[in-house]
Amino acid sequence: MTDILGLYPDELLEFITGLGEKKYRGRQIFEWLHVHKAASFSDMTNLPKSLRDRLSAEAFISDPSIIECQVSSIDGTRKYLLSMRDGNMVEAVFMRYHHGNSVCVSSQVGCRMGCRFCASTIGGLVRNLSTSEILSEVYSIERDTGERVSNVVIMGTGEPLDNYDNVIRFIKLLSEPEGSNMSQRNITLSTCGLVDRIKDLSKEDLKITLAVSLHAPSQEKRLSLMPIAGKYDYSDVIKAAGEYAKITGRRVTFEYSLVADENDSDEDAKLLSDQIKNILCHVNLIPVNPVRETGFHEPDRMRVERFRTKLEKYGINVTIRRELGRDIDGACGQLRRRYMRNQD
Ligand code: SAH
Repeated sequence: MTDILGLYPDELLEFITGLGEKKYRGRQIFEWLHVHKAASFSDMTNLPKSLRDRLSAEAFISDPSIIECQVSSIDGTRKYLLSMRDGNMVEAVFMRYHHGNSVCVSSQVGCRMGCRFCASTIGGLVRNLSTSEILSEVYSIERDTGERVSNVVIMGTGEPLDNYDNVIRFIKLLSEPEGSNMSQRNITLSTCGLVDRIKDLSKEDLKITLAVSLHAPSQEKRLSLMPIAGKYDYSDVIKAAGEYAKITGRRVTFEYSLVADENDSDEDAKLLSDQIKNILCHVNLIPVNPVRETGFHEPDRMRVERFRTKLEKYGINVTIRRELGRDIDGACGQLRRRYMRNQD
């Protein structure tokens, strides 16, 4: 069976002409898939019935089932638990901002990076998601809400640069002018800092925003939170992010999860700004989302504000992540974990 949603336009044309059909049928199908977000060949009403039957026999359209959808009564954020064809489940989140609707997608089932504060990594990596599965997270949410999604953040479960080829293809397909046509400027990829892959990414000629999960002001502290720091040194992560900004002209984001008494002191703020002050960047502060298994706590609001003010004093641009969906299983991986616990 051909995984049709993951094909580039030229590959789809090749597939269709291989079935003995005219090229324009390929363009029609691409439009059904990526503009109208059709989940079934039977919806493709301008195709002859014989072709629709043939397609159903030879190809499939990724269309996860919605196992659960939690809706925040505070801000309307919708957190989905989606089941893929093989029964593996991932989370995706729909958020409304003044600049449009945003979806946070997962790039893997589970994760092998082992960050100590993160719920997604607790059960390890199960498998990579295919390009079509990642796309289907966005498309199934658009179908469910009946609303268009204008922004995507690759910040759900998984390390996107650990699933490099599928994620790059996802970005290119999502921004394909004949299809969804999402502006690459509205796509953010968040990585725990796989230096070699950041270097590859900077050569892809994409206009996406790179977010790097830094979470610490020094190699030593980073290593205590993120095992990946044992492979890539702090200074190399900063350097790769700086190079990315230089090559692409795009401002990078450093994500910094504030953990009480771990990385939230005045000295931490000073050290952090010393490391990044020469880079086209801004810092996104995320008060750590408590996860039952991790034991980490967020600093109180005053301490978060103090950290922000310190960074600003040193000339760093700072935002504090708006907390959406606080009343639903907010942190990455928590909904899936709870669901899996209940199954045991
Ligand atoms: N693997 C990628 C993307 C997934 S996580 C990465 O590491 O960037 C998206 C962001 O949420 C990362 O910055 C991650 O470190 C952070 N994060 C994960 N669990 C968190 C928690 N419990 N509280 C706050 N931030 C968390």
